[in-house]
Amino acid sequence: MQLTVTALVTTLSLTLLSACSTKPNHEVSSASTVLPPSVKWQTQSKEYPLITRAIYRDAALQLMQRELPTNWVVVMDVDETVLDNSGYQAMLSQSGQSYSTASWNQWVKSKQAKLVPGASDFITSVVSAGGKVALVTNRNKQLDSYTWQNLEAMGLPINTDNTCLMGRSQADKDAVDGQQIVNDKDLRRQQLMTGDVDCYNPSDEAVAEWSQPHNIVMQVGDNIEDIAKTTQASADPSALLPRFGKDIVILPNPMYGSW
Ligand SMILES: [Mg+2]
Repeated sequence: MQLTVTALVTTLSLTLLSACSTKPNHEVSSASTVLPPSVKWQTQSKEYPLITRAIYRDAALQLMQRELPTNWVVVMDVDETVLDNSGYQAMLSQSGQSYSTASWNQWVKSKQAKLVPGASDFITSVVSAGGKVALVTNRNKQLDSYTWQNLEAMGLPINTDNTCLMGRSQADKDAVDGQQIVNDKDLRRQQLMTGDVDCYNPSDEAVAEWSQPHNIVMQVGDNIEDIAKTTQASADPSALLPRFGKDIVILPNPMYGSW
């Protein structure tokens, strides 16, 4: 009986190997066959870049038509807003893993994220018009150097004078009181408005620049909590709609979120 089972397993293994070896390489190695629809949509559809580019184009046009205050800043999230992390999601799918802080931090350190289509043109419009960008991200603040290097490697027109990168610290989480600080990005938005910010690696000049109070003219993200004083639970899409494209912009992210 033992011999019979062993022979069966051997025969099956050889059959499987034979079947694999006769398949064209592109079929065997095709990653798309194992990607969940959300990752496939973000990485392969024509709809995704069309939508993100259109949203960013319209946001830039809207901004340039406005009368802007002095010291104006656009607050932007990073992940799935400026940087496209579909490569990380694809890696998780292909290796049968779920999200973990360890693998995420490793991904951030690898600096392999690409750009969300349209983000570069939008940031270029902002800084060319004399505005600044505050990148308020929930990546760990201790990883800011990797995030910054990734952003620079993508050719964005950023420097520490025109762009303030602020990763999330424990203080951001602790500050949430459900009243004035509703989500863990609210503290950093308030700091921008008072000039009490802690930007990544600022020059002396940048410190002086960012120590001034700033006027937030637009908030851009992929998550409803990228909007000040908003939570997933409390957000009212009907109330937010009139603001969309004016002072708030939300990009599509089908892969993950606070929902
Ligand atoms: Mg995001």
